[in-house]
Amino acid sequence: MVKHTPRIGCFALQGAVEIHRPHIEACGAEFLSVKTPARFEDVDGFILPGGESTTMLKLIETFRLWDSLADNFARKPVWGICAGTILMAETVLVNNNLSSRDQTGGQSETQKSFGLLPITVLRNGYGTQVESAQSDIDGYPVSFIRAPVIQETGDTEILARHEGAPVWVQGKGDKAKYMATTFHPELTMNFPSPMHKKFVELVRRS
Ligand code: GLN
Repeated sequence: MVKHTPRIGCFALQGAVEIHRPHIEACGAEFLSVKTPARFEDVDGFILPGGESTTMLKLIETFRLWDSLADNFARKPVWGICAGTILMAETVLVNNNLSSRDQTGGQSETQKSFGLLPITVLRNGYGTQVESAQSDIDGYPVSFIRAPVIQETGDTEILARHEGAPVWVQGKGDKAKYMATTFHPELTMNFPSPMHKKFVELVRRS
């Protein structure tokens, strides 16, 4: 159990970072944006934000952050959002057929990932930017922005589905500290989102 005010660190190399602050603070937790190994040690749980997973991977490599991140992720709760979900997945496929929503054609295994959750994701599985859309998850408006499709799940709890596919998942057993959403809840200015509440609760209990 975290006894102090939980400190949530949003990984801040690239992507939608600051916009999580009001959600986290509305949950009674502290928000930090973190990008160095010393700062990683300061937090009780991580948000891997939405953005561009390939860019994040390049920057992780450039700044040699992989080992320190992997070590922290093994010990602490992590919530991946969209690109963050891709970084957490065990298997990452790429949609080479961006012109359609056909999620079966032209896939290849590509990207390196931390493999925290037993899921297979298809990057840009819904298609290009024009396929980005808003929807309601648990009565809360959220945005799917060039989102990945979770195509397969191993031993995970599916917390929400959209068009049949899981879009909010949590691990089980020693992976219950990991959750992922393929959508962005933080862009909705109604604080806090149910997903931020759930994650802060998870961090409090860890
Ligand atoms: N398509 C992006 C990627 O592959 C994810 C988009 C997002 O995070 N909103 O990393």
